[in-house]
Amino acid sequence: MGKIIAIANQKGGVGKTTTTINLAASLANEGKRVLIIDADPQANATSGYGIDPKSMSSSIYECLVDGYPMAGSEVPTCMEGLYLIGSRIDLAGAELELINKANRERVLADLLAPVRDSYDYILIDCSPSLGLITVNALTAADSVIIPVQAEYFALEGISKLMNTIRIIKSRLNPQLAIEGFLLTMYDARLRLANQIYEELKGYFGDMVFDTVIPRNIRLSEAPSHGLPALLYDSESRGATSHQLLAKELIANNK
Ligand code: ATP
Ligand code: MG
Repeated sequence: MGKIIAIANQKGGVGKTTTTINLAASLANEGKRVLIIDADPQANATSGYGIDPKSMSSSIYECLVDGYPMAGSEVPTCMEGLYLIGSRIDLAGAELELINKANRERVLADLLAPVRDSYDYILIDCSPSLGLITVNALTAADSVIIPVQAEYFALEGISKLMNTIRIIKSRLNPQLAIEGFLLTMYDARLRLANQIYEELKGYFGDMVFDTVIPRNIRLSEAPSHGLPALLYDSESRGATSHQLLAKELIANNK
């Protein structure tokens, strides 16, 4: 059965989408069958794979609001074995539409149940909010990856996220686990970056991935070419670090 992993942190710009795009590509490169769910109205994972929202017959919006099945809504990507269910800006309206639904927190979980056997990993790119769509993602997920940007105030807001995870565990999804904290945009030359890594390790110990993602220009350039770093510049540290992350994730799930 495929493992469902939400990539979440309500702090904006910490690397959620970059992690989703590149970890998914690296897992596919390891021969895994992977599905990305773009659960953010900004649709950055969708555009980062060069997918034009107009070309999608249905997006995550139609799945969540109108009950379209996920099978048939996925589009192929430039990576073999990697599919994506895209987002559009109208997803922002889904928060309101969902409020009146029965079991409004479990809509995504119910949609994913029939397709999870078709994949090894399903990665959900969350928006920088803890609204109903993110709650749906955390309710559907087996685990969560929390990207943490190596900068001042990195740990600010993590207690709020941990509290949300605690509430979701107690009320909606007792199985939800922390897959790992992932340090992103790491610059080994900066003492601060090392301090933040040590601090994370101090708080969360083994829950911190050994792999850290360096600050790497290729990671920020690749989405404008509609490619993961692995296809844009496979030798870049952005690409190789995500390949290590994929191997670490697979090893942790053996
Ligand atoms: P949001 O909260 O808005 O969804 P996010 O958490 O998904 O943001 P990203 O979009 O992945 O964050 O990254 C924010 C910005 O930082 C982007 O411009 C991205 O290209 C850049 N970026 C992310 N990770 C790296 C990295 N390791 N090296 C260089 N640039 C990066
Ligand atoms: Mg994002």
